Amino acid sequence: MTLHNVHSHHGGEEPELHHACLDALSRIQEFLHHELDDTTADVIREHLAACESCLDIFEVENAIAGLIRRCNPSPPCPGDLRAKISSMHVQVTHIRFES
Ligand SMILES: [Zn+2]
Repeated sequence: MTLHNVHSHHGGEEPELHHACLDALSRIQEFLHHELDDTTADVIREHLAACESCLDIFEVENAIAGLIRRCNPSPPCPGDLRAKISSMHVQVTHIRFES
């Protein structure tokens, strides 16, 4: 039986990758809120496509941001919808506190 070593180099010398992760994660909020310029957003997008651990974090942040965004829509909405949204906000807050 032969054990094939998948990780051919170990020793933790991946400063470039580590830096890319820190860079991507430090901008993930801005990326989610579309506050980055196209070039920077592309760098983040490419990193997420290549880096599974950052993608995981992004998906969690994205899910949370999606919930928050649903409660705070940017276009003004009629009173009826506004009331629905505030009751939704209570639900979301409740869910987040429970989980
Ligand atoms: Zn990464």
